[in-house]
Amino acid sequence: MAAPVTITFLGGLGEIGRNCMVFELEDQLLLLDCGLMFPELEHLGVDLILPDFTWLRENADRIVGCIATHGHEDHVGGLSFLLREMSFPIYGSALTLGLARNRIEEAGLLSKTELIPVEDGERRQIGPFDIEFIPVTHSVPNGFATAWHTPQGVIMHTGDWKLDLTPVDGRLTDLARIGAIAVESGVRLLLGDSTNADSHGHSRSERSVGAVLYDLFHEHRGRRIVIACFASHIHRVQQIADAAIEHGRKIATLGLSMKKNVRLAREMGLLHIPESAIVDIEDVDDLPPGEVCVISTGSQGEPMSALTRMANSQNRWIQIGEGDTVILSSHPIPGNEMSVTKVIDGLVRLGAEVVHSGIEDVHATGHAKAEEIKTLLSIVEPQWFVPVHGEYRHLVAHARLAQAMGVPAERTLICEDGDQITITDDGIAKTGTVPAGYLYVDGIIGDVGQGVLRDRRVLAEEGVVVVVVTVALEDGAIITGPEIITRGWVYAPEAEALLDECADVVRQAVKELFAEAGEPDVEALQRTVRRAAGRFVNERTKRKPMIVPVVMEA
Ligand SMILES: [Zn+2]
Ligand SMILES: [Zn+2]
Repeated sequence: MAAPVTITFLGGLGEIGRNCMVFELEDQLLLLDCGLMFPELEHLGVDLILPDFTWLRENADRIVGCIATHGHEDHVGGLSFLLREMSFPIYGSALTLGLARNRIEEAGLLSKTELIPVEDGERRQIGPFDIEFIPVTHSVPNGFATAWHTPQGVIMHTGDWKLDLTPVDGRLTDLARIGAIAVESGVRLLLGDSTNADSHGHSRSERSVGAVLYDLFHEHRGRRIVIACFASHIHRVQQIADAAIEHGRKIATLGLSMKKNVRLAREMGLLHIPESAIVDIEDVDDLPPGEVCVISTGSQGEPMSALTRMANSQNRWIQIGEGDTVILSSHPIPGNEMSVTKVIDGLVRLGAEVVHSGIEDVHATGHAKAEEIKTLLSIVEPQWFVPVHGEYRHLVAHARLAQAMGVPAERTLICEDGDQITITDDGIAKTGTVPAGYLYVDGIIGDVGQGVLRDRRVLAEEGVVVVVVTVALEDGAIITGPEIITRGWVYAPEAEALLDECADVVRQAVKELFAEAGEPDVEALQRTVRRAAGRFVNERTKRKPMIVPVVMEA
């Protein structure tokens, strides 16, 4: 019997974001990514969402490190939180580590980790794990697929990937090496990126976006151009810069992460913009509009971003007006559509001409679509298949693709966050579950908790009714109140009669409780007050605000 390998999925299976899984061999654990997820409107006031760290915390002494497949926040953004509680080295390409480093440094946690760069094609031993790092093309440079050479055969994880035969930096997804591994040793298990598994066809080459941008710059000559994209999308930034320079423009960056990433990528030789083509954002007003190109953050309509501030006329440097063309070189991530629409609306209101992915092909996805996935499956021919990285429907679509390409249905496992699978000589099976709920972060407080969010939702949708009453416990005499205070339930000045009636109902309920129960305690009184007020409010207004009883004993 060869040693078993267990994989625990902590995030990214059932959602886009907070990708995190853990490989286990000979009692040692190695993480693959530790990302965050951005909240949606329903997560009132939450800043970001992390994987549940409970299981990692309980097994911290067995963790030998973390591999970062690439530098996107949904893969590395959780590290600065996890490193508060434990310490381990992080392995990735130099750029991935450079991008991950920012947040870890901000959190003052660099001393808790060692950042260990890995080269394309390198094979490295980390604890008991023998891992090969295979180049893949994606919407951030220098990402990796990984091949885990284990006693149970090769486990291949695609990372976030696409097939782009003409990538901007010439670094191709290394299908040749993947194919060689498949031929030499076979692939026991493939874990594949499902993000675009339900999109037919083939993703466009990133380079095709460059051609569209070039034409746009030509068409909009003489006007100032502001263009927003992901700050980590170095290849997009390169193509924007190339188009701008060819049209005699100078480039300014706007937004802290754009500034940092452009500097980092230039230092690493991954982004080529001559110093003479760069101008400070403070100086763009000194140039004629037709000689300026501002590359900005905020392509997802993030509330505090440079572009959103521009749309609200609140940006310190750029005042948008009729002479401006704003290009959103991006596509909204599911959940961000409304914010992006609002930003576009704001920009148009200010007189700008706005170009987005619904009008021109100013964006290409970084994730493989169905035809690319099928190509990979035909090369890898995995014995077993588990779709990862996607919402549930993406996982199911991906599983179907695998089956269409010859992986038997009984060897296609759909797993979700919290599932553990174990690979033994006999095959692969689900063997357990661990906690994998959402860890909400609001401000600097981790774990706001499901209860807090439930309360916020009730408060937001129904309001609150506070009932204050002072009761003498020995005889049930009401000394003060009941006073009814409300926010967000009814408009108080017009509802005085209703509040009086509610007070009467509560008074009556207290009286009845003492008649029935003799000498009730404060908790029983609170329950009675809550129930009486709640029933009244619901019957009279068909609403369910939060009822907060405040019972004081005299
Ligand atoms: Zn990614
Ligand atoms: Zn991703």
